[in-house]
Amino acid sequence: MAERSIVLRAGRERSLLRRHPWIFSGAVDRVAGNPNAGDTVAVMSAAGDFLAWAAYNPRSQIRARVWSWALDDVVGAAFFRTRIERAVAARALLDIDSDAMRLVHGEADGLPGVIADRYGSVLVLQLSTAGADFWRDTIVDALTAVTGCAVLIERSDVDVRALEGLPQRSGPLRGAVSPGMALREHGLRYRVDVVAGQKTGFYLDQRRNRRHIGALAGGRRVLNAFCYTGGFTLNALAGGAESVLSIDSSGTALALARDNAALNGLDGRRAEWLEADVFDALRRLRDQAAAFDLIVLDPPKFAPTAAHADRAARAYKDINLLGFKLLRPGGLLATFSCSGGVSADLFQKIVAGAAADAGVDAEIRARLQADADHPALLSFPEGEYLKGLVLCKA
Ligand code: SAH
Repeated sequence: MAERSIVLRAGRERSLLRRHPWIFSGAVDRVAGNPNAGDTVAVMSAAGDFLAWAAYNPRSQIRARVWSWALDDVVGAAFFRTRIERAVAARALLDIDSDAMRLVHGEADGLPGVIADRYGSVLVLQLSTAGADFWRDTIVDALTAVTGCAVLIERSDVDVRALEGLPQRSGPLRGAVSPGMALREHGLRYRVDVVAGQKTGFYLDQRRNRRHIGALAGGRRVLNAFCYTGGFTLNALAGGAESVLSIDSSGTALALARDNAALNGLDGRRAEWLEADVFDALRRLRDQAAAFDLIVLDPPKFAPTAAHADRAARAYKDINLLGFKLLRPGGLLATFSCSGGVSADLFQKIVAGAAADAGVDAEIRARLQADADHPALLSFPEGEYLKGLVLCKA
């Protein structure tokens, strides 16, 4: 058997046999061969059966993450090249009307800890685990070879790296981005800052939901809370909204949102912008007896992990309660959660609680999720982090 391996406690092979790709520290009985963070280990059952090849990390509660279930796979350059080719080929079949797209989505593409987004001819790479970090150069070579992109920027500046014992890291790895870089999506153009913007520069996962909201916005007075660089705002304006009030606490994001409206000729009187904390702004609007026909609530991750679920639940309930109050009868609330630690089920319960406290009856008009370039595995529900509800107030 392999030189480096981890042997699981009896019975702890079950989740792996169901193809769940994480091995928690408590499942590990012993470690052989002194693997370092990022090294590939064979994962063995207590009975001595091979289960998977995985990336080891002694510093993380997720002690190992599966690269492959096949004994005859060799985790190396050809392996990464094949996985990346497969991920990129799968995207080519999708009906996505944009030149910006997620090409590699971590576990769902068999590459835990690896995110790669393409913005035109620019790749943005985000590595969040020791295993992904270990193979950085190999992954960069494969990505540039498979896509033909000459520019690759690293944005491994995510908080979850701390849980892996890794420092944040970002900067150009190949070439450089041109100033004024923009993407096209559903006929709209957006300037995007892949070097310093949030995530890899744009919330690509909300693409199909932006279109959904655009189609609902005609003739409505819209409130877009947590607007970032204007995704839902531009779609609502282009969809014929009577007015759109956009709120974000980031002055940088809001400035880019206004630029984006101008870039698309949508910066007229219909668009209003407010730099504010949404929790305060919604209260002020309620005190002013403001009313809207369509409200979008797309807050940041309140619960990155299940450990934060309680505090997150209170925050979701608060904004949704205020949202229901600010909605006219017959109005629509499009409410999202991108918290991995809050399931779709729990999110719906929180929103139902908010409606009850607001004294509102509501009907579910749509359930929304991340766009198709952000796939999820049946065996890995943690991957389904983005969920949304479109609700109609009675
Ligand atoms: N809907 C956007 C993405 C929203 S991301 C899109 O489609 O592109 C969440 C946004 O919430 C970020 O822009 C962040 O700056 C903002 N934000 C975070 N906390 C906030 C708060 N308390 N009040 C207002 N905005 C906040």
